[in-house]
Amino acid sequence: MAKTSELLVGKWDTLHENGLFDLKRQYITRHESKATMPSRVDRYNDGAKEIQALIQKCIDEDEGFRAYGSRWSMSNIAHQKDNMHQNNLMYLDLEVVEDDIHPDSEYAHENIFFFECGNTIKRISQKLNEYGKSLKTTGASNGQTIAGCISTGVHGSAFDVGAVQDYVVGLNIITGPKASDNVYLERHTRPGLNDAFANRINARVIRNDELFNAALVGLGSFGFIHGVALEAEDLFLLDRYVTRIDKKLALALSKNLDFENSDFKIAGEVGPDGKPNRPYHYKIFINPYVDDDRYVVEAMYKKKYEMAYPDPFGKIEKSIYRDLIYLLIKFSEKFPKSIPWFIKSLQKSILPEITKDEEKIRATLYETFWDAGYKGPAFACSVGVAIEDSEKALNALVKMTKKHPIPGIFAMRYVDQTKATLGFTRFHKTCVIEIDGIQWEKSSKIPSLEEYARFMIEALQAENIPFTVHWGKSMDYAFPGLAEYMYGDRVEKWKNCRSWLLSEKMARVFSNDFIATLGLDTYHNVPHDFIESLDKNGQPIQSIV
Ligand SMILES: Cc1cc2nc3c(=O)[nH]c(=O)nc-3n(C[C@H](O)[C@H](O)[C@H](O)COP(=O)(O)OP(=O)(O)OC[C@H]3O[C@@H](n4cnc5c(N)ncnc54)[C@H](O)[C@@H]3O)c2cc1C
Repeated sequence: MAKTSELLVGKWDTLHENGLFDLKRQYITRHESKATMPSRVDRYNDGAKEIQALIQKCIDEDEGFRAYGSRWSMSNIAHQKDNMHQNNLMYLDLEVVEDDIHPDSEYAHENIFFFECGNTIKRISQKLNEYGKSLKTTGASNGQTIAGCISTGVHGSAFDVGAVQDYVVGLNIITGPKASDNVYLERHTRPGLNDAFANRINARVIRNDELFNAALVGLGSFGFIHGVALEAEDLFLLDRYVTRIDKKLALALSKNLDFENSDFKIAGEVGPDGKPNRPYHYKIFINPYVDDDRYVVEAMYKKKYEMAYPDPFGKIEKSIYRDLIYLLIKFSEKFPKSIPWFIKSLQKSILPEITKDEEKIRATLYETFWDAGYKGPAFACSVGVAIEDSEKALNALVKMTKKHPIPGIFAMRYVDQTKATLGFTRFHKTCVIEIDGIQWEKSSKIPSLEEYARFMIEALQAENIPFTVHWGKSMDYAFPGLAEYMYGDRVEKWKNCRSWLLSEKMARVFSNDFIATLGLDTYHNVPHDFIESLDKNGQPIQSIV
């Protein structure tokens, strides 16, 4: 039987110390050992029962319950004051064989994998590597859990690919303590796994696009995501270059991503017609305190996997992984009393090193977006805008930041549109403008992080720029009407779906301050037979009772 430790911790915090929140109880569940329960499916199902027993306990005591992953979110999205479940020991993966694939599936069966919630991006990548497969995209490093990633909408800068949730095929969600509260949820238009697979994990099948899209970026509030079916692809290589280009060109590309018809040329990255290749990844670094007519940009080109490429780690350690936060902290440790001077001095110290074309770094996705070194206090705020608005939004944010300086620098990344109802990469191509840095003390010259986050929202609203914010990063979530401003009627759709899937009692159990602050915890009494599992053509198959 799976066993759970119960720790009366009193306090809880994120990895980067963004809070210190009250917490009564922390749970950590460990599966039965392989020696006594050899079948992975048995251990997985036994784990589900244990989670349901914990949920029952919370109901009995009229308390909340929330799962969390690696604590990498910097907002309070993962926090719940009563009971928090740490998933890091729940990292099984279940075999998916050809017989498990739904007859209407359009996925290649060898690309479908099923991982338990606590698997980190690193662990998943290693597992996929054994099969010659890779994730399609990740964030800039690899320590987050799969359930944590999709719950906030983690992205990289693969602008034709999307975010992590966009390659999820199915979700196994525990919605309550009863046997029928174990659900396997997929899109009806893109079924992946068949009912026999769902039966094996004791889950009731729901195929419904609307519900799936809402639960996908569920902010930790759609129940306990026990497992995730995802689509991988063949292992590939990335050739990475860092170069400095004219600011006008960098921002023109930011607005149209039309590399093939641009002047952005890297030797060797040119097609047979002489036009520049389209990168897989594009990122711009901007120091808001320096008026530069050239920007540092990072571009990566996707290449077919081949065995013989030089070990990338010598270069990776020297260049990529001196990440912004690490460099910022080093700098501030050296000059602790000189924040204003420090801000002005950022330019030379924190941008990635320029590579010569012949010095490109070639590595797999997993090797490229490697471990994050720094674990001390840090902040990050990210907003998403349509790429067409990216220059205007950047200008507004830089102007505001010059007026209210804080120790951080900007970067811009690009992501394809998500189908997730509250996915913050919701524009047809989203430009994510982020400011990362170290935490600081508010003073007469420097605003608090909360104030700065409010200024960000106000600066974008003043320019009438539609925007979203990264749910896992710092922001003024109490800003009046924020969720509705960002998502319009999608907010009601999301709440409806949550109310369809969860009973009112369970919706309360899976709520927290974060969603309450945003007004997303409201429960709607929708008819109970409202959700229907649909076939591929949208015809009802079954009703939820
Ligand atoms: C060093 C660093 C680098 C980062 N880089 C990026 C980046 O490149 N791109 C990007 O988009 N973000 C980035 N982030 C933000 C971070 O990746 C996200 O906030 C991510 O969601 C954190 O994942 P986690 O596993 O730590 O989840 P947590 O932060 O622990 O939890 C996040 C949410 O997931 C929910 N959750 C977790 N497990 C479950 C479950 N089993 N069932 C239901 N809900 C669950 C939690 O309740 C919470 O709501 C970075 C953060 C750090 C610290």
